[in-house]
Amino acid sequence: MNDCLFCKIIKGEIPSSKVYEDDTVYAFNDIEPQAPVHILIIPKEHISSAAEINADNSKLVAHIFEVAAKIAEDKGLADGFRIVTNCGDSAGQSVKHLHFHMLAGRDFTWPPG
Ligand code: 5GP
Ligand code: ZN
Repeated sequence: MNDCLFCKIIKGEIPSSKVYEDDTVYAFNDIEPQAPVHILIIPKEHISSAAEINADNSKLVAHIFEVAAKIAEDKGLADGFRIVTNCGDSAGQSVKHLHFHMLAGRDFTWPPG
């Protein structure tokens, strides 16, 4: 997707602070962190939101959660972390490329606002 912000970040056209990368997944620090740890984990393939997850691409999503567990171990997030994906306008999705927010380093309320 030519005009997708996160596709540009994956290609290195927009700089980012990389946390993890492999053939199919990229993770980087959020530019406007909402917690001491705020990492975005994204598929390199352009998938527009969680509503577009299907039998053909769900293995990639499973892999994203494996990556999240590895990041949690590497960063020592034993106290806990939260993973959130906003899907669609009413949920506050501002970038239309599937991404999982990984938040840690403070307490979180439930339910979220
Ligand atoms: P959403 O609102 O779609 O759930 O999440 C988009 C996230 O992308 C926001 O938390 C926002 O701070 C982050 N973001 C937007 N633009 C950039 C950018 O250029 N670089 C980085 N690292 N994060 C960004
Ligand atoms: Zn994209």
